[in-house]
Amino acid sequence: MIHYALRCAAGHGFDGWFPGSAAFDRQASAGLLCCPVCASAEVSRAIMSPSLGRGAPAPAAADPAPAPRPDAPAKAATEAPSPLPDQVRAALQRLRADVEQRCDYVGPHFAEAARSMHAGHTPPRPIYGEATPEQAEELAEDGIAVAQIPWVPRADG
Ligand SMILES: [Zn+2]
Repeated sequence: MIHYALRCAAGHGFDGWFPGSAAFDRQASAGLLCCPVCASAEVSRAIMSPSLGRGAPAPAAADPAPAPRPDAPAKAATEAPSPLPDQVRAALQRLRADVEQRCDYVGPHFAEAARSMHAGHTPPRPIYGEATPEQAEELAEDGIAVAQIPWVPRADG
């Protein structure tokens, strides 16, 4: 199982899991990959991990074995309830709003719905819902592209 950071033509970053690099190439060239935000089929591997901020690239993206950081400051717990920087949270809130607007919510039935569309039993449509990491892996192993996005509380509460 390979995890790729993907990016669509409009610059939306998201994650995909594939059985192998050949499977990614096959799905990409067949137009089977689509952006969870704008449904663009022009999806390619991101050069680096999606960086929602501006400026510095993500230097650890290609590190195969990130070392634990015992000296990392543990400050999140003592400050704001969310460790996300405001601009990251705002971007994720926009992402959530886009997904909720464009996609049908299938709740915990995401894996079933994705398989049903993949098998041609139901018409393809953008969906979102909950899936466990195991379900996401199983879908990817069956050649079904899935994307996981960080889900944050709505901007309007
Ligand atoms: Zn997109």
